[in-house]
Amino acid sequence: MNMNTKPLVCIDAGHGGRDSGACNMRDPARTDDDLYEKHLTLQLAFTLKSAFERDGWRAMLTRESDIAIPLMTRVRIANEGKANLFVSLHWNAAVNKKAVGFEVYHDNNSARGKSMAEYVCKEFSRKYPDRKVRGVFPDNQSQHTDLTVLSRTAMPAILVESGFISNDEEADWTLKNMTGIAECIVKGMQAFYNAWKVKPGVITSANTNS
Ligand SMILES: [Zn+2]
Repeated sequence: MNMNTKPLVCIDAGHGGRDSGACNMRDPARTDDDLYEKHLTLQLAFTLKSAFERDGWRAMLTRESDIAIPLMTRVRIANEGKANLFVSLHWNAAVNKKAVGFEVYHDNNSARGKSMAEYVCKEFSRKYPDRKVRGVFPDNQSQHTDLTVLSRTAMPAILVESGFISNDEEADWTLKNMTGIAECIVKGMQAFYNAWKVKPGVITSANTNS
């Protein structure tokens, strides 16, 4: 396959550097067990990259180390790189330590983003029937502040909240299941891509020519 015909995914590890994202201090008597969202997102980003490349995709990361990057820089990396699809990786946090669940956000005005979010949620539910799935949400229903990456990217885009870092059990579970979570995201995004035959800026249903 020609390099340029391979689809390109842009993977955005949320937060980084001085922006740690959410955290869970777990045992207050220790600091070596502290969990930071920025580390989990980078770990998952590398796992996703490997999985996409294994399947013959090209993959680019908005960051490959623990550095802070403005949201619009992340957007520019994806747009100038002409990525076909975009995924931003995050973990949730809540004051209620019992809150759990997997959720996926999309731009309110993007039918393609919504469809891709649904494909990813479906893969997660299928692989992990015992885990809570909170569902698919438009960005205008979110309390999150990281959603510029959904509204300003030029390609179908989703933001995945893989779980609640504030919930001890879920934080541990997600750490142990990075490969499986990545698999759900990859499969869902690829299923979406194959169904919609995505081209930047163009909506072409797979059924148009049938
Ligand atoms: Zn985040």
